[in-house]
Amino acid sequence: MRHGKVKASLSPGTTPGPASGRRILVVGGGYVGMYTALHLQRRLKPELGRGEVEIVVVTPDPYMTYQPFLPEAAAGSISPRHVVVPLRRVLHQCRVVIGEASAINHAKRTATLDTLSTEEEGTGAVTISYDQLVLAPGSVSRTLPVPGLADHGIGFKTVEEAIGLRNHVIEQMDIASSTRDPAVRDAALTFVFVGGGYAGVEALGELEDMARYAARYYHNIRPEDMKWILVEATDRILPEVGAEMGEYAVRELRRRNIDVRLHTRLESCENRVAVLDDGARFPTRTVVWTAGVKPHPVLAASDLPLDKRGRLTCTTRLSVDGVTHAWSAGDAAAVPDATAEEPGTLCAPNAQHAVRQAKVLAENIVATLRDTPLKEYAHSYAGSVASLGLHKGVAHVYGRKLKGYPAWFMHRVYHLSRVPTFNRKARVLAEWTLSGLFKREIVSLGSLEHPRAEFELAAGGHGGHPPRNPNGSS
Ligand SMILES: Cc1cc2nc3c(=O)[nH]c(=O)nc-3n(C[C@H](O)[C@H](O)[C@H](O)COP(=O)(O)OP(=O)(O)OC[C@H]3O[C@@H](n4cnc5c(N)ncnc54)[C@H](O)[C@@H]3O)c2cc1C
Repeated sequence: MRHGKVKASLSPGTTPGPASGRRILVVGGGYVGMYTALHLQRRLKPELGRGEVEIVVVTPDPYMTYQPFLPEAAAGSISPRHVVVPLRRVLHQCRVVIGEASAINHAKRTATLDTLSTEEEGTGAVTISYDQLVLAPGSVSRTLPVPGLADHGIGFKTVEEAIGLRNHVIEQMDIASSTRDPAVRDAALTFVFVGGGYAGVEALGELEDMARYAARYYHNIRPEDMKWILVEATDRILPEVGAEMGEYAVRELRRRNIDVRLHTRLESCENRVAVLDDGARFPTRTVVWTAGVKPHPVLAASDLPLDKRGRLTCTTRLSVDGVTHAWSAGDAAAVPDATAEEPGTLCAPNAQHAVRQAKVLAENIVATLRDTPLKEYAHSYAGSVASLGLHKGVAHVYGRKLKGYPAWFMHRVYHLSRVPTFNRKARVLAEWTLSGLFKREIVSLGSLEHPRAEFELAAGGHGGHPPRNPNGSS
């Protein structure tokens, strides 16, 4: 299992459903998982009160991550704990289990779970039975067999990766500032991002902006000493905002001296040298891989139907095609786009669909339990907003195109309205207001990732500070 701090409350063996009622098992605590459970607990209040229904949410982390805020968390504009929503607080009527589903046997209505306690105690996995299944484990980074990538690359999907990358970038500036070796300095100040979608462009835009600002506090680093490179295999970036705004984003990034390379692929990054298929070679200690996503591998460990890309084949009612009592939405699901003119078009994997699908999905489960008609999911894509750094952005929403400050402002307003819970909205707004009044935070707290290092050295009889990893942290 990835990580986590909360003990699970399931014991090994098969855990039966509630004595007199039905169990809804929600696999995943992201957009779809959290919003589906939230809608279910609101709509099934009477049934939950009478113990007729139980909602169990299984997820590896005790929080939902608001991924569109990860680039701002990496830039230090938002604290990491404010881009996540604590599931136990929001889903107080549900049973939240910290663990991962490793297999689904829908024919038998059972899921196999690895939880923190089964892992720690060395007991076997838990098998849990259910009556209704919501399978929403989202997606994972779509990697290619690029030599060196597994050893040196980092993704940008989790809050840990975003904060790790922030610390890493600042640490590279510290290394560059203190070394006398020009080759080490050059590699430390070279940052390669692969993939020009939301995640790659926003992460690069925000981090470059932060590093450019931080450079003023280094006596021997100027912004022009840094190389920021965006590698994109197709002829455009940010397809979500349309061709015109995508071209603007390329121009804006290049104006900032960012080396945007279209029609280019990363061939290898062995020995800390990024080699591109246009022949360029960049010694670097930073390769960020954001070249798309693929469905979570747990889907293949189920007996449910998958499409050729490995997503669950779903209907417009968000039920899994051809079976009963199984539902899905979001990045893990291939849902027909009922608003598209071209038959066979599927909903794109994004938060805009995931949140709306979760609502319809929950309503349809309630309708199934109460024996009322099901709804169809239909939402035409409203467009998108993307940040390119502080006060810079690009947007294409409801046919309106915006760029620069207005787009950035719209990006903030939109995401503030979307981030779950009033509590989070207030905290994020407070942080933005404070960061407008004071200077940016440029401190690296990379040592937070190794909290015992200092004590281990002291206990081992050595003095002084622990040596830093000379190769950087990623
Ligand atoms: C950096 C970044 C920026 C983005 N910006 C935007 C944006 O601006 N606009 C937009 O529309 N979209 C954006 N997206 C995309 C959007 O975040 C996703 O489309 C959305 O999160 C999909 O929701 P989901 O519920 O399917 O998956 P997720 O939100 O990823 O949730 C999946 C959940 O399942 C859990 N899980 C995984 N495996 C298991 C398992 N085996 N058992 C149990 N639980 C499991 C995961 O831990 C996670 O909690 C962005 C994505 C990223 C990475």
